[in-house]
Order: sequence, then structure tokens, then C-alpha cells
Amino acid sequence: MLIPHDTRIALDVVVDLVNTAPESEQPGVGEPVDGLADTEALYAFAGRHRVSGVNELDEKDLRAVHDVRARFAEVFAAADAQVAASLVNTLVAAAGTTPQLSNHDGYDWHVHYFAPDASIADHLAADCGMALAFIIVAGETERLRRCEAPDCRHAFVDLSRNRSRRYCSSRTCGNRLHVAAYRARRREAAG
Ligand SMILES: [Zn+2]
Ligand SMILES: [Zn+2]
Repeated sequence: MLIPHDTRIALDVVVDLVNTAPESEQPGVGEPVDGLADTEALYAFAGRHRVSGVNELDEKDLRAVHDVRARFAEVFAAADAQVAASLVNTLVAAAGTTPQLSNHDGYDWHVHYFAPDASIADHLAADCGMALAFIIVAGETERLRRCEAPDCRHAFVDLSRNRSRRYCSSRTCGNRLHVAAYRARRREAAG
């Protein structure tokens, strides 16, 4: 599946956003923490992902972004493309979009979907919503996944060739389970 560069970037933003939700935090590490607990964290998020057009952010923006985050989480939990499509349609319609070609900051031509004066929540809903729309149109909704490690459940987009990725990160979750399975086999063999 060929995914345009800007779609890939927008998908990274969706995944990072969904994974800031407190329910995505690993239990056993203490109380679930909201990765976007205050406007300070929202500024940091916008900076990390270079969300353009961000000026003053307030509590209203924070609440609106939390809401968009919850909608994106529903898309990852959607049972099929029908459900996912309906969620994305609602989200993008509410955000209002004004597709604009842009080649700002030395990037190649790409389409911005957010309206020029969009709030950060509408900006994310429009651009990330359209990136998810691209995945659904490509018939690849099943690539929107949750990590199979029982104590993780982080969202991720499986961009592997054969859609075989099961963990948010093979380095951490994949490896951790691998080692656990190996130890269990050893214990059995030693019986
Ligand atoms: Zn851009
Ligand atoms: Zn994981």
C-alpha cells in the first residue's frame, strides 16, 4: 500500500493523540495518566507535531481536543469499515474543511484539509480524519490496530507489507512477550 508522505505524518499524529488517553497507559505503573492533562501538554503536543496555525490555546481547546481524541479512539475500535467510515464522516463534517494545496516550508505539494482559521481540535479532526479516510478508502481499515500485549493496548497503524504486526513496538511489547513465551517453554521443558 502506497501511503503519501503527508498522510503518513497525519497518521502518526492520530496514533500519538489516541495514546495520550489515560486508558492507554500501562497498568501497574501507577494511576493512569492523561498525556494531555493541561494546556501546557497541548502546546507540547502541537509543537512536537508541528501543527501549523497554533496561537493561543486555552481550556476550551483542551476539552475539544479530548473530544476529538475520544472519536479517534472509536475509529480504532470500529468493528468494520462501515462503522469507521460513519465515524470519520461525522468528525470531518463537524470540523468543516477547506481543502487547500500548499507547498509551505519546502515540502512538496500536499493538501491541507483544515479551514484557515480552524481551532486546533478542528485542524486535527479535519487533517487526521482525512488520513483515516484514505486508509478506509484503500480497503485497509484493519490496519488500524491496538497492541495485542495484554497490559499495553496502545493504538498503532500496521504499515507492514503483510499486515502481520501485532504489537505497538517490536522492540518493547513484541520482545517482552517473546521473552515471556521463551521462559514459559523453558520451564515446561525443565518440568
Ligand atoms: Zn502542510
Ligand atoms: Zn504495546
